Formats: sequence, structure tokens, C-alpha cells
Amino acid sequence: MALLLGCIADDFTGATDLANNLVREGMRVVQAIGVPTAPIDGVDAVVVALKSRTAPVAEAVAQSRAAAHWLKEQGAPQLYFKVCSTFDSTPQGNIGPVAEALVELTGARCVPVTPAFPATGRTVYLGHLFVGELLLSDSPMRHHPLTPMTDANLVRVLQAQCVRERVGLVTQRDVAAGATPIAQRLDELAGQGVRLAIVDATSDGDLRTLATAARELPLVVAGSGLAIGIPAQHGLAPSAAAAALPPAQGGRAIVSGSCSAATNAQVAQFKAQGGAAFAVDPLRIAAGQDVAAEALAFVRPRLAAGTVLVHATAEPDAVRAVQQQLGAERAGALVEATLARVALGLVEAGVGQLLVAGGETSGACVQALGLTRLRIGPQIDPGVPWCHAPERSLHLALKSGNFGGVDFFHRAFTLL
Ligand code: ADP
Repeated sequence: MALLLGCIADDFTGATDLANNLVREGMRVVQAIGVPTAPIDGVDAVVVALKSRTAPVAEAVAQSRAAAHWLKEQGAPQLYFKVCSTFDSTPQGNIGPVAEALVELTGARCVPVTPAFPATGRTVYLGHLFVGELLLSDSPMRHHPLTPMTDANLVRVLQAQCVRERVGLVTQRDVAAGATPIAQRLDELAGQGVRLAIVDATSDGDLRTLATAARELPLVVAGSGLAIGIPAQHGLAPSAAAAALPPAQGGRAIVSGSCSAATNAQVAQFKAQGGAAFAVDPLRIAAGQDVAAEALAFVRPRLAAGTVLVHATAEPDAVRAVQQQLGAERAGALVEATLARVALGLVEAGVGQLLVAGGETSGACVQALGLTRLRIGPQIDPGVPWCHAPERSLHLALKSGNFGGVDFFHRAFTLL
């Protein structure tokens, strides 16, 4: 069966966020880790998760092209290039160069571009991106270590990244007037040779209207927000069936490498409620101890009794002390490798329901488990769905650091 939508996401957690929004509006979605090598059946959309946000431009373009070719081969009539809702990019790209390559590949006349997601405080007005009540350039994003965003004018930001195409603007006035005026404005811009157009959106209604205007277009470029309007274009409506996963089985475990405030609170709550927990000490790993084996020896006999937790999660002072001794990068890599081995050992010991906390930690665990695709299921908390990995018959939830309420670890398992 042909896909209804083919998505290319420039990072892993962004892919999950987009997939989650599509599922909630009624699409059956698989998130593929990298470009798949075989067809994926029984779904409406595939989200190909790349690591292209901060990759060298040529690499990002090549990966995105490969993903686009595969998605088009699967029959997807529309491609959705998912970018960060704060438009994270550098003066070189990669949003502009990838968008230009996809314009060429799809033959798109004028592509709507919007990172808006009002439900999470991202709005675009007269081409300027706001984060909550602040202009992007006044928000903490101006200090981002890899992609500092110092200009909120997205027409200017995107134009600076483009080498071939001109960038235009569809303003709130057209958006408020409805889907037809938006489509007419995009046509008018196309007539002037403008191939990419930032589109204003300050409400969910604006995004749904834009999705209608874009129904017949071969390409859209957006944050995860625009996804809320797309399933309805194919006659789909929110349904439990779209999020249905096979029945969960096996032991329950949590592997946590995130040191964010939210994760620290979740770990503390889990311990306070008497959960079985093993703390990974990065200094002992660095000293050559087999901490992964110790962790597995501790939690394996406790699996039958309930959920077990293995964590490197620590308060900022403790993390700083470790980083001063080992260096932040080495400490991170040692901990990630250890937790990934723990995740693999847990699954081999019969864990069938695994929750991983931390973006980088999730990447390391998914890689160690050798997973290439995840069917997206019901949402635990905003942005974090349960997934099912058919290759290991494993239910998996990947939580990026600051997501989830304080009782997330407990609540997640009650949902399966
Ligand atoms: P988040 O989503 O909260 O940013 P990540 O997993 O992406 O979480 O990043 C956390 C990083 O911190 C990882 O590289 C992890 O290995 C590292 N780390 C975890 N615990 C410790 C610790 N106790 N000391 C130093 N580094 C740690």
C-alpha cells in the first residue's frame, strides 16, 4: 500500500515528536532510524530520522536526498521536511540547502515553510519567530552551543542559507483569510520565481488551514506543528486504532542517563516509592570496573518483582565534579556506552518494556539494540509516545531530558 505522507526529520527526537503528532490525529506511523532498505507495510506515514541538523552541509543534503528518494519510491505523494521549532541552524544551513535539494527533487513551485507550533509557544508573525513571549533572538536560543539563533526574521535567516532559491513570505492576513487565499498567495509567489515561503501561524487553527492549503503540494517544510492538520486531509480522524501496539510483555526497566532537572525529580520519586535502583558511578567506569555487569547482576533478580531502574542521573554538582575529573565528553561517552550495554543486557534478560531517559542516551541504546524502526503508539506525556520495536518484540519509550511529569516513570507503565 502506498504511503500517504513521507517525512524526513533532521534529528531523532524531532522525528518522534512529529510521528507522535501524526498518530494523535489518526495516522499509523513508523519512525525509521536512517533510510530503510525494505518497504514498510501497514502504515500511512514513515518518518525517516536523520542526524543532519548539524552535519556538514553536503552530508545533510545527501542523507535527505536518499530519504526523499526512498519515500517517493514508496508512493508518498507529499514530503514533509521536519526542522526544529526554533529553526536551529547555522548561516551555512542545513535547512536552506536541504530545502533547495528537495525543491529540485519534487519539482515544487512554492513550498510553505513554518516552524510554528503554538501549543508549545512557537508562533510566527510577519515572518518573525517567537518563543513564548520573546523574539527568537531574545530567547535562550541565542546562546545555543551549536546553533545560536540571533535573528528572528526567518525570511532573512532562510535566505542567507540558500544559494539558488528566493525566499518569500505569506503573512497572517492571507492565513486568516483561509486556505484558498494562502494557496493563491503561494501561486503568486511561485509566479515571481519564489520557491520557498515562510508562512505566519499563531494558532492551531492557522496550522490546520495551512495544511488544507498545502493538500496538493509535493513538499512542506515545518516543525512538528503543521502535522496536526495533515491526517484530516486524507479523511483520517483521531482514533485509538492508529496508536494501537501489540500487547506488552516481559519485564519492565528504566535506563536513565539524563541529568536534567525533570529526570532527577523522576528518579528521586521512583526511589522514594521503594523502586529497585542501581546508580552508575562514572568514576568507577573510568577506573576500569565492569559497572554494566554489576548493574545487571543487581537488577536481574529483581525484575520479577517490579520495575527496575539503572541510572547515571545525578544532581548538577555531582555531574560537574565528574566532568572536572574526566572531561565532559569522556564522561558522557563512558556513561552512554555503559548504559547501552545495560539496555542490551536487560532486553536479553527478558525485559519487554523499556523506558530510556535522555536524548543522547536514547540514541546509544537504540544503536546497541540494533533497532531500525519503531511503530509509534500512545502518548505518555506531550512529545513522548510508547513505541514498539518489532525486531526485538520490545516496547520502548525514549524520553528526552526535560520531558515528563514527576510521576512519569510510574505512569508510563500503567499505560501499556
Ligand atoms: P538529556 O536529554 O537530559 O540532555 P542526554 O542523554 O542527551 O540527556 O545527555 C546526558 C549526557 O550526560 C549523556 O552523555 C550522559 O552519558 C552524561 N551523563 C549522565 N550521567 C552523568 C554523570 N553522572 N556524570 C557525567 N556525565 C553524565
